[in-house]
Amino acid sequence: MLAVVVVALIVAGAAAYVLRPERGVPDGAPTQDEMARSIGAPVMEHIYRGHVPGRSGEIMLVPKPHRYLIGEWDLTTLGTDTPDLSTSHPNPWDYLTRVPIIMYQPGAVPAGVDDYSEVDIADLAPTFARVLGMDDFEADGEPLPGLDLGSAGQPKVIFTVVIDGGGWNALQQHPHAWPEIARLRNQGTTYVNATIGSAPSITGALHATFGTGSYPNKHGLPGNQMRGPDGENTDTWRQEADPEYLLLPTVSELWDERNNNEPVVATVSYEGWHLGMIGHGAQRDGGDADVAVLWEVDGDEWWINEEYYELPDYLEPTDLARLERYEAELDVRDGITDETWFGHTLEVLRDSRVRPGTPAFVRFTGDAVIDVMRNEDLGRDSMTDFMWIEMKMPDYAGHAWNVTEDEQEDVIRETDRQIGRFVDELDRTVGRGNYLLAISADHGQQPLPEHYGGWRVNNRELQRDIEDRFGDVIEKVTPVDMYLDRSVIERTGVDPDDIARYIATYTISENIPDGAPGADRVPQPRLDELLFAGAFTTEYLAELTPSRIGSFGDGEYPEGNFYLDEPAAP
Ligand SMILES: [Zn+2]
Repeated sequence: MLAVVVVALIVAGAAAYVLRPERGVPDGAPTQDEMARSIGAPVMEHIYRGHVPGRSGEIMLVPKPHRYLIGEWDLTTLGTDTPDLSTSHPNPWDYLTRVPIIMYQPGAVPAGVDDYSEVDIADLAPTFARVLGMDDFEADGEPLPGLDLGSAGQPKVIFTVVIDGGGWNALQQHPHAWPEIARLRNQGTTYVNATIGSAPSITGALHATFGTGSYPNKHGLPGNQMRGPDGENTDTWRQEADPEYLLLPTVSELWDERNNNEPVVATVSYEGWHLGMIGHGAQRDGGDADVAVLWEVDGDEWWINEEYYELPDYLEPTDLARLERYEAELDVRDGITDETWFGHTLEVLRDSRVRPGTPAFVRFTGDAVIDVMRNEDLGRDSMTDFMWIEMKMPDYAGHAWNVTEDEQEDVIRETDRQIGRFVDELDRTVGRGNYLLAISADHGQQPLPEHYGGWRVNNRELQRDIEDRFGDVIEKVTPVDMYLDRSVIERTGVDPDDIARYIATYTISENIPDGAPGADRVPQPRLDELLFAGAFTTEYLAELTPSRIGSFGDGEYPEGNFYLDEPAAP
């Protein structure tokens, strides 16, 4: 009897030992230095510039190319014709970081030139400052090379269009959808090796880079979310178009201030994050309430925080009937008159959460741009005006239907048509050669992993797995980074470096939740595949220096080398 009990206890003890979750760093986990060397210098430089200590999450996540984090997802969709379409795109790889910069001003910008210089979007604001003789403008970027901008005198308007999610990978996926942009390329200078200059490739950080000419670690906005001064996680524009957390002034607001706020500074864009292009408005001493037009998705209307900016009265109330008219015309655009647009009924397309992703909304936004240009007398006097347009719809459509799909092509086509319309309006009212036009994008888009051998990472399961190992150390996992519960870390003494090293060993099989339906659909040979190229702590990133970063070399991922070689002369 006693022997049976003893044996039972031993068996139970052994079982508990086997089932006990593993703790700490797995054997053979790479160090952060080893991860950085495998990722390489170009990507690590971008990560360094994009990490804002104290505001970013305490662990920066770098999934391998074409792996990306989303929430819980349904494994039973694997290998079916209804894959999970939700994607995230904050990763640092070439297909997300390579974006066009096209400059156009006949007489001042050389025509038909492809420039292979390694430039980035932080160079736009310093270029504009140079044009305007603002020699004391401080920025990380440098004026773009190869332009002769002073020669034509100061332009009457500096007009910038940022295509959200309009990186080269989105444009090249649909090469026939942008004839107007191609025409401007032929008549202007294109920086084919431009990048966004920092990582993560996320909207909220990069629009502030456009406006300030500096990277997130200087302008202070790490992305769409951040840790606020009180320690809480918050939207970087406090969900109410409040510029308080933007630490640097933009080139537009400095120009406005030094000219007694006489120049027009205006934006038509989509959400608070895009205000980083124009700046603080009236919140800054010496500033004024600049014209800003954003879309309130839940109210189906134009809006702005009128404490700091001005919503023009000619756009109020929102002309929703016109948007609905455009939506009614969507049907024919797919070539089949069947009361759907690529199979989506009008009822679905008019849902507030779908609506901003269609060509109807592109036209509607284009109308608002033209309204602002006309009513504000853009470029009608000798004082240079600034207008910044953000075309949200390609990004929105890509999130809804994916960048590879027909819907995206049609949305890019309409975005291109509206850009042509802005140029026509500028030619008519300001005059060809009298304005400087810049076209760029804030990032590329994430194709479905099925196309590139990638994988979706379930960030909830990742969190559970980390907490099984290290305790309740996580406050939040975003697609970009991981916010740690700083009080738990302090109390338990868990080293964030250990968590980062564990993440580098994390596999597809570990990311499958226990008993998840559809787990048997995961191909067996992929189970041991690693999901992350690396993970880096704030402590590690804050101590990097340019020479350390340079010592990481080329890395082992082709997607970590951003630049094309200039073709040899024929
Ligand atoms: Zn974006």
